[in-house]
Amino acid sequence: MRTAEIRQRWLDYFEGNGHAVVPSASLISPDPSTLFVIAGMVPFIPYMLGEQTPPWPRATSVQKCVRTLDIEEVGKTTRHGTFFQMNGNFSFGDYFKHGAITYAWELVTGSRETGGFGFDPDTIWVTVFHDDDEAAGLWKEIAGLPDERIQRRGWKDNFWSTGARGPSGPCSEIYVDRGPEYGAEGGPVVDEDRYLEIWNLVFMQYERGDGGGKENFPILGDLKQKNIDTGMGLERVAYLLQGVDNLYEIDEVFPVIQGAQELSGKRYGAVHDDDVRMRVVADHVRSALMLMGDGVTPSNEGRGYVLRRLLRRSIRAMRLLGVDDLALPTLLPLSKDAMSPSYPELAANFERISQVAYAEEDTFRRTLAAGTTILDTAVQAAKSTPAPVLTGHQAFQLHDTYGFPIDLTLEMAAEQGVSVDETAFRTLMKEQRDRARADALAKRAGRADTAAYQDLHSTLSSENAKPVQFIGYTDS
Ligand code: ATP
Ligand code: MG
Ligand code: MG
Ligand code: MG
Repeated sequence: MRTAEIRQRWLDYFEGNGHAVVPSASLISPDPSTLFVIAGMVPFIPYMLGEQTPPWPRATSVQKCVRTLDIEEVGKTTRHGTFFQMNGNFSFGDYFKHGAITYAWELVTGSRETGGFGFDPDTIWVTVFHDDDEAAGLWKEIAGLPDERIQRRGWKDNFWSTGARGPSGPCSEIYVDRGPEYGAEGGPVVDEDRYLEIWNLVFMQYERGDGGGKENFPILGDLKQKNIDTGMGLERVAYLLQGVDNLYEIDEVFPVIQGAQELSGKRYGAVHDDDVRMRVVADHVRSALMLMGDGVTPSNEGRGYVLRRLLRRSIRAMRLLGVDDLALPTLLPLSKDAMSPSYPELAANFERISQVAYAEEDTFRRTLAAGTTILDTAVQAAKSTPAPVLTGHQAFQLHDTYGFPIDLTLEMAAEQGVSVDETAFRTLMKEQRDRARADALAKRAGRADTAAYQDLHSTLSSENAKPVQFIGYTDS
């Protein structure tokens, strides 16, 4: 089943059950304290908090998400993408635990002929919050799950809150057992590779108080309006239903791996480290494409920097695969073609998107050409010492003279087993900033003086026929 079809099945199922279908919001977070939308519920937060009245009691969406936190997991686990799509169903004071569990069970195990995903009920495990007997009871009653496949977990894993006063509540997560060849038995509390988390149901039930962070906070009582917020990883379901081993091998991602194979002449599946690199390339190219589709452009801070890092990491991974030629003109169109069935606007905007990406590859190649030899020399020298570390000064020089961001220096040094004195680097950066600030202040002061002087000068010269009485500098 193609990913686009799984996505449509999701929307059809919930629309058929009275949910309003809401299009994905942009990846750019509506909340200034975060860069990107990280979950399907984010666009609905004002309804969850009761700040706005929702136009419908229940809704469904497939939301584009970016989680930069997961960047280091990419390619190493089977299940983390920097970009992914979260299927969600939401109830604003309408159905609660019984409804949410009933829908989830029906859709996950319902037959493919009648619109379900057709998972074998015997492979499904769930977790509930440790004292949520109600949810555990419902999983038994509705799904007939035996006790051993309903596992209990604590605050960290199975309780949701924003961290401040407001709605909060227990979660229940749904896992699929991929089989004994993928790890140890004993359910998700034992092994999260073998038991793949596909869906998280959040039961917003309590009002929590301030203080205590994410764990030790007061529960003030029941919410007047109880909500349901769920999130299912579309790519995770796709990877199971497509019978592949991980998220990077699904129809929406794998074409870029194929492109990377062709460019490098290396075969996917032959050498583990190369496989990880190809997965990183495929993941990052797709995330960059989706970010550029939503209008993000590369820069040195915020969202633009995340985009820049994704593009640069994919170009560097291609270099490590032995490809020194341009990579994006081959890889980006492959990603666009793979994503267009669900996001036709990508094709319409591709001219703009590709120009941005190709210009970035160009700039980055020049940066690498300028700094790589310097870095390699420094790394080789460091390696001949007992504790191989690049000094803060070396990292600073790479940054200052060759435009190597510290992340790049860290990554390239780490690949050769060399660490970097980051603290010293940060100190040098701070000193440079302080110097620049002092210079700017001095210049501004200087410019103000000259400007005042020039004003006076032009007054004198334009009226040079008349004598001007100099009355001194007044406050401007
Ligand atoms: P994990 O424990 O695997 O990191 P999570 O508990 O952080 O996942 P949730 O915050 O519960 O994930 O998000 C809801 C669903 O979104 C998950 O059940 C999963 O299917 C999917 N999901 C979360 N993070 C990713 C990711 N980085 N890539 C792909 N899908 C994801
Ligand atoms: Mg996670
Ligand atoms: Mg989890
Ligand atoms: Mg989860």
